[in-house]
Amino acid sequence: MQKQDALLIFPPVALNMRMPEMGLPQISAWLKSRGKTSKVLDLNIIFLSEWIKTKETDEILFRRWKARSPEFKKLCPKHSFSQEYAEMEHVKQINYIRSYTPLLNPDNSSWQLNDIIQKAYEKDELFEKFYCKYLAPEADTSKLIGFELMNHEQLPAVLYFARRIKEDFPGKTIAAGGPWATASQSALPKWQPLFSLIDFVCLYAGEKTIEAAIDFTNGKCKKEDIPSIVWQENGTVRENKLSPFPDLSKTPMPDYSDLPLRLYPKQCLPARNSSGCVWGKCIFCYHCFPRNKYNERNTEQTALEMKALADKHNLRRFSMADLAIPSHQLAELAKNLIKIKANVTWESLTRADMAFSENFTKLLYLSGCRQLFVGVEIDDPEERQRLKKGIKEGNFEKMLESCMKSGLRLDAFLLNYPGISEEKLNESMRYFEKLKENSNGTLSLVIADFELGRASNSIQYLDFFGITLPENIDTDVRSFSLPFNTNKPWKKIFL
Ligand code: SF4
Repeated sequence: MQKQDALLIFPPVALNMRMPEMGLPQISAWLKSRGKTSKVLDLNIIFLSEWIKTKETDEILFRRWKARSPEFKKLCPKHSFSQEYAEMEHVKQINYIRSYTPLLNPDNSSWQLNDIIQKAYEKDELFEKFYCKYLAPEADTSKLIGFELMNHEQLPAVLYFARRIKEDFPGKTIAAGGPWATASQSALPKWQPLFSLIDFVCLYAGEKTIEAAIDFTNGKCKKEDIPSIVWQENGTVRENKLSPFPDLSKTPMPDYSDLPLRLYPKQCLPARNSSGCVWGKCIFCYHCFPRNKYNERNTEQTALEMKALADKHNLRRFSMADLAIPSHQLAELAKNLIKIKANVTWESLTRADMAFSENFTKLLYLSGCRQLFVGVEIDDPEERQRLKKGIKEGNFEKMLESCMKSGLRLDAFLLNYPGISEEKLNESMRYFEKLKENSNGTLSLVIADFELGRASNSIQYLDFFGITLPENIDTDVRSFSLPFNTNKPWKKIFL
């Protein structure tokens, strides 16, 4: 029985999601403002907080773990899931997520599209029981079912669920969207088998696409009229015209009311002031998509929205979902939060592209800001220039000094990339460790291995990183972390 126009699902398995994701609540709010109805279902958090704790799941995972190779067991020494990973320091957390996720997904090491699709047709005890308990009772409530994917690790569950929905509820329209879908855009023409389970893939922002898709399911328009989708017709993959981005000043406040907010390990809501990155030039970046031009809105609107969300959900902590809020916008947001007495705390990614003064960081603190995240990547200014990082020598150190004096925590991202020798990386680590030791707990370091995204800036700089791609790259679904070979010195830190 139809209860709403669209059922919007955030699927398992995404262990790195410790707070609600913003995309679906944003689409849901948009649909409601346009007279449509929708329900958001975060199956990932239910999977990770309720389902994983059941005796039944424990037994399935134990059987699965026992059957795996000794090499696998070295990487993943326990079959039982521990929520403690959420509090681990970064390196351990990433290794835990990477070693444990394969136990929750079917055994597939190639990540080739055909292998993943084939697995979706095989019975998977874990997904099957979860589907029957949590998704099947919901699936008949909408003609349109949309899945949002942050990365490829959610694809096995999406395809499994899509297959089961099509078997149990013929005639449903199934869509897949989210950052992973957009990152996969250039490969989709070669992913024709995907469209046997997914009716269409949505690219970029989903608001107008899902709105039109609802009209399609109600017979009011044709598939070729739905903007920004990729679909298949008579064996040919087609891409419809991309719709203009929604005007951020006109997008309504995200609607988190369907989500079980008490279940998230990080009790925090995402808010957003901009889309795209104001800089957008770092040559290793896989966050910026080719069409994602920077757009910002009036910070007064964002401040009012944060206060309204905090009052509505009685949750006063926010994490800004922007790729990097530029300093002038941080200052304006802080002033507006103070002006309206928002009484919230918040954290944000930004850029150390100017010297943050003590007055500035004090203003941020006064508005409730407690933590900033910046990419510094390496201690060597010349190397940073080669990476097109756009950070001048001394800016980060000045920013740290100001944060220390103001009580703001600062997290710095460091990058281990092809071309950086072990010696140089260690030297850089020693430099930042020293800053950390002297920071009285202000500075934390987050080191990441370089990842090659299909739509990333780095795909334009393969020679710089000495990268060659394997033959079957076009059908590899790891669109944010493609496999590659490099002839430059490089030793990965993570599994
Ligand atoms: S790495 Fe960060 S600052 Fe650089 S282009 Fe990407 S999002 Fe922007």
